[in-house]
Amino acid sequence: MKKVEVLAPAGNLPSLRAAVDNGANAVYFGFRDATNARNFEGLNFSESEAVQGIDYARRHGVKANVVLNTFPQVHDPSPWYRAVDAAARLKADAIILANAALLRYCHERHPQLPIHLSVQASASNAEAIRFYQRHFHIARVILPRVLTAPEIRALHEKIDVELEVFAFGGLCVMAEGRCHLSSFVTGVSPNIEGVCSPARAVRFENVDGKLRTRLGGALIAEYAEGEDAAYPTICKGRFQANDRVYHVMEEPGSLNILEILPQVIEAGVSSLKIEGRQRTKSYVGTVTKILRQAVDSYYEDPASYRAKPAWIRALNATSEGTTHTLGTYEESWQ
Ligand code: SF4
Repeated sequence: MKKVEVLAPAGNLPSLRAAVDNGANAVYFGFRDATNARNFEGLNFSESEAVQGIDYARRHGVKANVVLNTFPQVHDPSPWYRAVDAAARLKADAIILANAALLRYCHERHPQLPIHLSVQASASNAEAIRFYQRHFHIARVILPRVLTAPEIRALHEKIDVELEVFAFGGLCVMAEGRCHLSSFVTGVSPNIEGVCSPARAVRFENVDGKLRTRLGGALIAEYAEGEDAAYPTICKGRFQANDRVYHVMEEPGSLNILEILPQVIEAGVSSLKIEGRQRTKSYVGTVTKILRQAVDSYYEDPASYRAKPAWIRALNATSEGTTHTLGTYEESWQ
């Protein structure tokens, strides 16, 4: 049985080394510009850092995938094409793409470079995936976080490209790459600003002993004294609907699939992805190590696999809202 891959995020070289040292089979990273959706100040890789990172990964038998998951801008698409050429020059193990123009360019200009279809392309059904396979020869699809484990299994039976799914980290619940909720209050694109809630648009205020979080001036949530507050993201805000104030769209916990790891692996996935290129090397090291232990434990004896409470506690400590959710793997959409 081919073992599922543990795929870890690398926002910089220290995080890449932490992923490799803690048992990742593959890492993913982007260049230091708007060509990747985690375009944060001080993060990401220059081409020479990418050379060092890929070299470190290779020396440890770890694959390195380059992320190019934003969309070329109409006034100057050239940085995106240059980034595709750079990924090919670096001999990355795969390039992660979402945009049809870049998919075509990469497929025609660099046919030797395996293409993974980004979650930002929102391909979540067999016909859409076959389209990308037929036209651009994608080797893998990264599934949006909108499918249950049985739906992933059914999809696997209909297609013959590898499936990559999110196993741990921040949960973006919409059809990804298509969510514009935050644009209405921040005035900027969630795709090329690095995140949908950029830090400069975030405010924390104390009012009468309560903590209020705001994004672009809009009230996202109000917390009682002593309550854990989440980083303000619109889809995880507490809003009033039908005279009730609650998380109308999604709870602010991190996705964590350890409790259903066997169902996810047995659904036929090839790669388990950890979200968080914007997180610290300590986060990357901790989450990679625990996912490695869980995956190894499953393969030692699939029938007796159990998620250890110590793993869950350690992962919760790294999580948004210090809690976790199975997201749409198990829950029905609210
Ligand atoms: S608001 Fe929520 S669903 Fe939309 S991009 Fe941000 S995390 Fe994703």
